[in-house]
Amino acid sequence: MKRDKDVKVSEKEIEIQKTYMEQIRGLNALQNKKFVVNTFGCQMSESDSEKIAGMLVEMGYSQTEEVDQADVIVFNTCCVREHAEEKILSRLGQLKAYKQNNRDLIIAFGGCMAQQLHVVEKIKKSYRHVDIIFGTHNIHRFPELIYCALSSNKMITEVLDIDGVVPEGLPVSRKDGLKAWVNIMYGCNNFCTYCIVPYVRGRERSREPQDIVREIQLLASQGCYKEITLLGQNVNSYGLDRKDGRAFPELLREVNKIDGLERIRFMTSHPKDFSDDLIKAISECEKVGEHVHLPFQSGSTRILKEMNRKYTKEQYLELAEKIRNAVPGVSFTSDIIVGFPGETEEDFEDTLDVVRKVRFDLVYTFIYSKRTGTPAAEMQEQIDDKTKKDRFDRLLETVYSIVQENNEAMIGKVEEVLVESVSKNNDEMMTGRTRTNKIVNFAGDKSLIGKLVDVRIQSQHMWYLAGEIVAN
Ligand code: SAH
Ligand code: SF4
Repeated sequence: MKRDKDVKVSEKEIEIQKTYMEQIRGLNALQNKKFVVNTFGCQMSESDSEKIAGMLVEMGYSQTEEVDQADVIVFNTCCVREHAEEKILSRLGQLKAYKQNNRDLIIAFGGCMAQQLHVVEKIKKSYRHVDIIFGTHNIHRFPELIYCALSSNKMITEVLDIDGVVPEGLPVSRKDGLKAWVNIMYGCNNFCTYCIVPYVRGRERSREPQDIVREIQLLASQGCYKEITLLGQNVNSYGLDRKDGRAFPELLREVNKIDGLERIRFMTSHPKDFSDDLIKAISECEKVGEHVHLPFQSGSTRILKEMNRKYTKEQYLELAEKIRNAVPGVSFTSDIIVGFPGETEEDFEDTLDVVRKVRFDLVYTFIYSKRTGTPAAEMQEQIDDKTKKDRFDRLLETVYSIVQENNEAMIGKVEEVLVESVSKNNDEMMTGRTRTNKIVNFAGDKSLIGKLVDVRIQSQHMWYLAGEIVAN
């Protein structure tokens, strides 16, 4: 469905928020106030947190890792799985002590969890030390919410039950100085039956291509940003909600032309929308890495239907083959759920079969988690915990042995590596990634950061490869 109204937040609204940021900055002047943002969940949450951090910096706060020194603590949450939600609430409970020690502390709870009514009720009732509850649709109003919290003792709740908007022009404080996430769209239209995302993030809203290109040009012109990842719940349907209908492959080609960038990545791709033109764009655009994150969730056509994924096992395998033929050396990664309601041993065997056939380099494996409000939560045949755990362990075993075999096949090959940083575990080693997104460690020095080097792979260590530089 094409939208006929503009979903962009009005410039006037952004101007208002800038005024709040300025006022708070005035209040904070010379006070050395600090903030912490705790992020849970996917890259989308990470990207939102960078905007929240950007606004807090603009308000005169500086970032700290020390929670006990913070004047503002933000929880930016995820609700994809129940277990993660429980952990987040337990950590939120622990903040009560900090609030007792510092009455001026502001605690803000936001993101996907806060979009659920029952969570908001729970926070209001049992987590009275929280000052602000905000949702996913009003991040751009964060300065105003902070301003209200500074001038009142009441808990402020602003969770909008609308389809959301596209904020442009907000300050961003990026975690990384070399790689940047760039949202190209928000929300999801797919309603996979297990998934809560469409309920908490609203329908698809694509950003305007010129806004995306401008943001990336600005990043590239700073000289330090070499890699960008275009983000969306399903980037393959980018632009379909817009009147000009500019599609994802076209956007990819435009971004590829931007000077100063070395690498372009994108995620996530829904298999049902992976067009031939996208495959062509990946193979044509020299900056786009040979890596496709292609979640398949289950290998059983019957379960895929129950999941509302809109492709069959065979279609998925055919697509992977088509991409492999057009993009030589391509690396596949995926998301898989085990223990979806009604999953039989035979269905699970189909999942293992897809893993063996496509030979993924990395798989994010999930045990099915019941999410209130989704159709799958109401399905009769929920799978018992023991079976789920058993299948999960067998899946990991299969994935690990394939990852190792794939890595071993790389030994002796020379790979182009974008150098990212000094290795975490060894000061004399540098770390970077191949075009296919594999981590490579090698001896080198800091002057290589941000550069492309050729590295001969010498050994494999499951989650990373090690090698030596053969040319600069
Ligand atoms: N939009 C992306 C992923 C969004 S959520 C996509 O379509 O691929 C990230 C992953 O969480 C999903 O791919 C899925 O594997 C997993 N997930 C989502 N809901 C889940 C649930 N209820 N239980 C277990 N895993 C889930
Ligand atoms: Fe969830 Fe499916 Fe949308 Fe991904 S495509 S966010 S799994 S509903």
